[in-house]
Amino acid sequence: MKNLSYKALKGTKDILPPESFVWQNLEEKARRLFSHYGYQEIRTPIIEELKLFVRSVGETTDIVQKEMFSFKDRGGREICLRPEATASCVRAYLESNLSSEPIVKFYYFGPMFRAERPQKGRYRQFHQIGVEVLGANSYLVDAEVILLLVELVKEFSLEHFLLKINSLGCTEDKKKISEEYRKILLKRKERLCPLCQERCERNVLRVLDCKEKRCQEIIGDLPSTLEMLCENCRRHFQSLLDILSSLNIKYTVEPRIVRGLDYYTRTVFELTSELLGSQDALAAGGRYDNLIEDLGGPSLGAVGFALGMERVIIALEKSGKLNEFVEKPLEVFLITLGEEADKEGFLLMERLRKKDISVDMDYSGKSLKAKMRRADKLKIRFVIIIGEDELKKGRYILRDMQSGYQEMINKEDLEKLCKKIRGEQG
Ligand SMILES: [Zn+2]
Ligand SMILES: [Zn+2]
Repeated sequence: MKNLSYKALKGTKDILPPESFVWQNLEEKARRLFSHYGYQEIRTPIIEELKLFVRSVGETTDIVQKEMFSFKDRGGREICLRPEATASCVRAYLESNLSSEPIVKFYYFGPMFRAERPQKGRYRQFHQIGVEVLGANSYLVDAEVILLLVELVKEFSLEHFLLKINSLGCTEDKKKISEEYRKILLKRKERLCPLCQERCERNVLRVLDCKEKRCQEIIGDLPSTLEMLCENCRRHFQSLLDILSSLNIKYTVEPRIVRGLDYYTRTVFELTSELLGSQDALAAGGRYDNLIEDLGGPSLGAVGFALGMERVIIALEKSGKLNEFVEKPLEVFLITLGEEADKEGFLLMERLRKKDISVDMDYSGKSLKAKMRRADKLKIRFVIIIGEDELKKGRYILRDMQSGYQEMINKEDLEKLCKKIRGEQG
């Protein structure tokens, strides 16, 4: 092959068949499940104003400080490729005046963009499936969103996942937690990495996102956020845990997960899979009770999650289940020999498709043997052969590739041909 001058950008990839079948299949399962729970799809633009994410995700988060694809457009506006979808959903919700509705339940699919160092399971363009419930304060909604996530990964045939859950409390609690953590961390400041030393001053909760070992050791000694919750937040969290137990959903309380975004309040959770190695998060989410108000709306609570599709694919690969999601192949492969037969076959194909039989043919003009090999490789059950002899006699050969059995079928008898392919008597 010649040296290729054009390649997909670093951290992006093409999704080709048969993997694209897997994606379609998973998306279809997700759509069905979400509809079942009363969620409706939202499609927001991929580009947004930069300030939307600075305001919502948080100025001092890694996403905003290091990972956004942002640029000035020709009109001098600051634009950003969305790094996540929650802020866009809230923006759309407010812009369309949906906050007057009692509760809004969205789901979405789509690409997100973060300029991270590409590694296994981490891309610069990656894809999320997510839900957002807007205008809801009840702990039952937290439970529904977590339940939905668990049901979703079960639909995807993923077992052995771990649900980790925590609460950061309300704004006041978060303030209390931050102050307490700052006090403790400042005493050991010189042992933290330079970035975390800075984080201690600006946004101490972000220290907990740090991957550096020396910081992780210190983080491990911090007191649980749960000890600092007010009575209401404590009750909200306990009610949630109780109902999760009633639903037989297994979880572990991880008192130091905070998630890498500023907007979370109260419930935060992560779903991890040991199949994924070091990048083990399949999905994450939580409650964000201030975001609607922060973006100019009324004071209403909300909760959601996002699941990483690339991670799901890796987990399916690792568990050997990826093939379950590859779509079944065509029912019929048509092999024609000679120009006249090509034409005859081409017209026959369209008649079969109208009878709801999926069929394709080989246009290459190669030999019968080469075409048979291709049908075999494509794992197609039936082959119809039309050569010069068949053409002359007005009939087709139908061959069952599984049994090797073949028979002649009169070209006028389309019904019989269809019945044979469908496995009906006839
Ligand atoms: Zn509270
Ligand atoms: Zn650090």
